[in-house]
Amino acid sequence: MAATNSVSDTATDTIAAISTPPGRGGIGIVRLSGPQAAAIAAQLVRAHQPFEHAHARLADVVDMNEAAGATQEAAGAMNEAAGAVQGAEDADNPHTDFRIIDEALVTYFGAPNSYTAEDLVEIAAHGSPVVLELLLRRSLELGARLAEPGEFTQRAFLAGRLDLTQAEAVRDLIDAQTLTQARQAASQMGGALSHRAAPAKQLLVELIALLEAGIDFAEDDIDVTPQAEIARRIGEITPPLTALEVSFARGRIVHDGLTLAIVGRPNVGKSSLFNRLVERDRAIVTASPGTTRDLVTERISLGGIPIELVDTAGFRDGARELLEEAEQLGILRSDEALADAALVLIVLDATQPLSDEDERLLAAVEGRPAIVALNKSDLVEHKLVAGEKEPLSKTSPALAGLTALPTSALTGEGIAALRERILSLATGGGAAEPGMLTNLRQHQAVATALSALADAAKANGDAIPHEMILLDLYRALWALDSLTGQTTSDDILDLIFRTMCIGK
Ligand code: GDP
Repeated sequence: MAATNSVSDTATDTIAAISTPPGRGGIGIVRLSGPQAAAIAAQLVRAHQPFEHAHARLADVVDMNEAAGATQEAAGAMNEAAGAVQGAEDADNPHTDFRIIDEALVTYFGAPNSYTAEDLVEIAAHGSPVVLELLLRRSLELGARLAEPGEFTQRAFLAGRLDLTQAEAVRDLIDAQTLTQARQAASQMGGALSHRAAPAKQLLVELIALLEAGIDFAEDDIDVTPQAEIARRIGEITPPLTALEVSFARGRIVHDGLTLAIVGRPNVGKSSLFNRLVERDRAIVTASPGTTRDLVTERISLGGIPIELVDTAGFRDGARELLEEAEQLGILRSDEALADAALVLIVLDATQPLSDEDERLLAAVEGRPAIVALNKSDLVEHKLVAGEKEPLSKTSPALAGLTALPTSALTGEGIAALRERILSLATGGGAAEPGMLTNLRQHQAVATALSALADAAKANGDAIPHEMILLDLYRALWALDSLTGQTTSDDILDLIFRTMCIGK
């Protein structure tokens, strides 16, 4: 079996970081973790009461340069003391020549009942970058080391307080752009994914134990497990893991969001539809007009899934002089957007027959998730009444297989249905479920486990010796263990944690 992680030897130093984002704010937090956390904090601030586990204390932040002489003296005494309560004891006997630069709330958590399972101190001062940097710089002078990105969480993981899926969820929660993403991350932080994988893992361990026993006692009276029994057990382990693997289809979309390209001939109403889709949604998280190669993109949240809309119209009011050029470039841009997007919305003018360009677009999305909007539907009835040429309809054979929705960017008709359709196409119609796989690493772990189980089933079917079947089963177990980080290499772990922010 592969080794499990244990607290690494290097995790005994004390780390410090500013945990709040750069810039000014109402408050800002400096965080310390490690054996010296309390002793260092006691020299940064003068707490009004002794530190006590999980209790916030009012404290004065001392301007260390002003008080350099006095601090030196105090520091010597503090180094000998236990640390945690030292700052407060000192406060009973204040040095009048200490200059106070800020007030802070200081919370101390004693090992092992802290986020990192080490002594941990959070100093919440006013969010002035200069004060926070002073606190951090002084911490480093007093023996702390600047924390690597994600190192607090890495320590929590190494101490066994979080498994790897939970640590990833901490990062996902911080990165969440929609409430749905935050909820998904919170559920994974609570262990939803690990819990979901646990029963299959348990069954796998039992099967391994059974086969190992059969081998160990082969010469004794214990019967070798029959082939059919092994097949039955593998058959029990596989379905929940397959369901888990399938959950990645939705999980990755909740996690990453996706891109929807709006394509169509000039003047069919792409920009108007784009605006409709954007405007009614209050959850716009970013707006970056004109950034992507003349494409206008906007991020909306549809059912909590971040969707980047790409409007290939590219020209706006005030840029009408570019119309002609844009019309020429339109095809090119549409092609680029088409190639990149996960979903495509083809906009057709419902009052017009299909043009060659329309047909070209329809052919280009064949076999891909696409929706057709028959826009300007408000004009259709009018045209029919006027006895003009037959407009496109939902069932035009030219639209073969694609869902066509009548929409009107002008009146808003059909926009709700369009949103719903985009959402269901984005999520593959699947419902949200607890414990979805949300990233490639997790998916890889489960896929590897499933392929090893398939190998085991085949070996069993071919009546290959149990020693060989066990190799496959161990491979499956190793993969499932890597899901939760028990068998993940240090290199991979570092990669994962280094993608987090400093101070988390
Ligand atoms: P794009 O070139 O495809 O982006 O088209 P625009 O969104 O710029 O729209 C072209 C013209 O059609 C504008 O004058 C819009 O006001 C108009 N338009 C767009 N959608 C509709 C619609 O659903 N009904 C009607 N009657 N006019 C529309």
